[in-house]
Amino acid sequence: GETLGLLGGGQLGRMFAQAAATMGYHVAVLEPGENAPAAEVSLKHIRAAYDCTEGIQELASHVRTVTTEFENVPADTLKRLAELGVRTTPSASAVSAAQDRNVEKAFIEKAGVPTAPHAAVRSEADVEALDSSLFPGILKTARLGYDGKGQARVRTREEALEAFRGFGGVECVLEKMLDLKLEVSVIVCRDAAGDSVVFPVAENHHKNGILAYTVLPARIDEKTAAEAQEHAKRIAQALDYVGVLCVELFILGDGRILANEIAPRPHNSGHATIEACVSSQYEEQVRIAAGLPLGDTTLRSPAVMLNLLGDLWYDAAGNVREPDWTKLLALPGAKLHLYGKAQPRRARKMGHATFVAETQSEALAHARAAAEHLGLAFADELKVAAR
Ligand code: ATP
Ligand code: MG
Ligand code: MG
Repeated sequence: GETLGLLGGGQLGRMFAQAAATMGYHVAVLEPGENAPAAEVSLKHIRAAYDCTEGIQELASHVRTVTTEFENVPADTLKRLAELGVRTTPSASAVSAAQDRNVEKAFIEKAGVPTAPHAAVRSEADVEALDSSLFPGILKTARLGYDGKGQARVRTREEALEAFRGFGGVECVLEKMLDLKLEVSVIVCRDAAGDSVVFPVAENHHKNGILAYTVLPARIDEKTAAEAQEHAKRIAQALDYVGVLCVELFILGDGRILANEIAPRPHNSGHATIEACVSSQYEEQVRIAAGLPLGDTTLRSPAVMLNLLGDLWYDAAGNVREPDWTKLLALPGAKLHLYGKAQPRRARKMGHATFVAETQSEALAHARAAAEHLGLAFADELKVAAR
């Protein structure tokens, strides 16, 4: 079969490569690291930095089309691939927009989708000029933040100044701190003809700034769900996006829906689509990369996804050992995904487990039982609530 190109060798790329293999494709991955989860399941691993000319040329020599799994691959690499005649999904310009929170917010607003009140902070003078209504707020670096890194909660202008200096004076955005009722995400898949499909809205719960679990579909009313999906489609359209895009949204106490940020790739909150939907987010990525028709995103069954972080690999004495999965695997509807990462580290995403069931309450109950077996502190939260 044809070989599809991939930038980035993490777990999202691994699941892309697995979906590609199912459909008869090979994958060539450009990734500097040695034991990369995606490289292990790809035909070819080009071990080079993302901006290495030889690496880019070699990738271009093997493939007609390239996609990405890593948010911070230099947009310039996509541009250079395009100049070498490679079709890239997404495009360099869409990835570049998603890499800068201020540019990203401008596109979201252009799409007519509301965001949290915010202002760009590029200098100390900008801090002085901030509207006081933005406090208390969160100062976020415009670039390179993830899992809550590159963020500081600031109550006052003085704290904002201190945090801005702490980030080394790099460009930031200050967002007003909002009272969130729920965090959800929508994954939208858009093809070159401008047609798009969306997955059911996912409900996301974070611990220490990292996604802990996702409930699919989100426990929100139909109207809110439809609005969230509409927002995602409009953002993809405003970016003229071709590929798989995740839109993170906040639902406020008064029911308003705001877009928080976008990720120009499949997303952790979409892992459950592998078992829960007819086509997964990774299959959609393959289809779009290969220029095939979009797949069917219909939900086949409710699901709960638990992230398995490296913390689980440490026993009470701090020794590293793989968790015992026996009890988890014995639960009805349980599916275990391990990414084959060589070194566990606390907070590192080592794998995930998905629980599918006929009803959402059963999926939650099984996820809860697994969380209890694993000793996860939030197990009690996995309770049933009506959609
Ligand atoms: P990710 O790992 O999802 O890429 P990130 O580091 O890019 O995360 P954000 O998604 O912007 O950062 O923020 C992380 C979390 O902080 C959000 O999921 C939300 O819980 C909280 N948060 C962010 N912005 C706000 C806000 N304006 N008001 C309240 N909470 C917020
Ligand atoms: Mg982010
Ligand atoms: Mg986020």
